[in-house]
Amino acid sequence: MSESYDVIVLGLGGMGSAAAYHLARRGVRVLGLDRFGPAHDQGSSHGDSRIIRQAYYEDPAYVPLLERAFELWAELEPEVPGGNMQITGGLLIGRPDSRIIVGSTRSVQQWNLPHEILSSDEVSERYPTFTLGADDVGLFEPNAGFVRPERTVTAHIDLARRAGATLRFGETVRSWQADSSVRGVTVTTDTGMITAGNLVIAPGAWAPELLPEIPLVVERQVMYWFAPSGDPARYDPSRHPVYIGANPAGREFYGFPASEGPTGGAKVAFFRQHDQCTPDTINRDVTLVESQEMAQFIGSWLPTLPGRLLRAATCLYTTTPDGHFVVGPHSQYPQVVIACGFSGHGFKFVPVIGEILADLATEAKTRQPIYPLFDPERRALGR
Ligand SMILES: Cc1cc2nc3c(=O)[nH]c(=O)nc-3n(C[C@H](O)[C@H](O)[C@H](O)COP(=O)(O)OP(=O)(O)OC[C@H]3O[C@@H](n4cnc5c(N)ncnc54)[C@H](O)[C@@H]3O)c2cc1C
Repeated sequence: MSESYDVIVLGLGGMGSAAAYHLARRGVRVLGLDRFGPAHDQGSSHGDSRIIRQAYYEDPAYVPLLERAFELWAELEPEVPGGNMQITGGLLIGRPDSRIIVGSTRSVQQWNLPHEILSSDEVSERYPTFTLGADDVGLFEPNAGFVRPERTVTAHIDLARRAGATLRFGETVRSWQADSSVRGVTVTTDTGMITAGNLVIAPGAWAPELLPEIPLVVERQVMYWFAPSGDPARYDPSRHPVYIGANPAGREFYGFPASEGPTGGAKVAFFRQHDQCTPDTINRDVTLVESQEMAQFIGSWLPTLPGRLLRAATCLYTTTPDGHFVVGPHSQYPQVVIACGFSGHGFKFVPVIGEILADLATEAKTRQPIYPLFDPERRALGR
């Protein structure tokens, strides 16, 4: 059988499945490859829910990308069986001088985003599940909410296939080759060699194997689902926001309303545990000590949240030194586009990154403002 592809997409997780869809809908002949099955739980795009928001404390430069991402989330919505996006409002909590409050205030002011600043008492009045410190404030963003990662990936895979993409699962890419003076790429998988005009590399936590020149650190994270001990109706998504906070020591956490996921319950997690690993060495078991620590920590913010622990699961972050993504053409091989280092906050951008990767693979440029923030050649990456 002769194979002929314009673009190979390496990795069909959050970013790669979106790229495959955006490429295929433009009439590009796409081959997508993934070592696991569709919407698996071994990488970074699983665990029922992902926060989406726009009051971006990480940097106001993300806001235009988020505005496009929200348009694309809305476009995707009718294609997702059972529904994907839920707008609950989002609450950012911490001291007025914390990075979360300072940074999100900067973004809402610069981009004129709807928001309210609430005192600690005003937060508890509106959302009685929260007990903030007397010095804490809340920045409420009405347009924030969450999406469902497994449903998103499944929808992008289905849409890509319907638009003509060939997607192969259970096939691992061992290496890729390109030449700076010749067009085209060659990918070697465990079943053979495939050539194409362009290559999109979106390997999540496997990026250190495929793109060793980028300084990335892979970290183990844990998600916890608790059955609230108080009135469960208070945690219903129609009444409860998503939230992100930091304690005075700077320890960051986030959580969701209760959802109808496989186990139900309300999910909560620490933002970053600095627990370095690889996808092969990660300990996927969660200890009693870990879940007790989380229950105690979150109980000081939402006293009725940590009832019975229903489930806990691990997930991988792939972090860059400055916490910003790496998206752009490969420095040596312009026919290769890379997307990695999403540093624990990439999912809300999935549809816009898919669109950008399709732009870069077909036109070598994009109208989205990804430079200098995501530049693979930036100084923070040791260039
Ligand atoms: C616990 C947790 C909570 C998070 N919460 C949020 C949140 O609330 N909001 C938010 O915006 N972001 C959040 N994120 C971050 C976000 O989920 C990630 O940034 C995003 O999922 C990364 O997508 P990806 O496509 O890079 O990786 P993945 O989805 O893991 O995809 C990479 C794919 O590449 C495949 N692959 C790798 N190597 C090969 C190979 N050699 N051959 C073939 N296939 C290969 C893998 O099998 C995998 O399917 C969270 C992440 C975690 C872990």
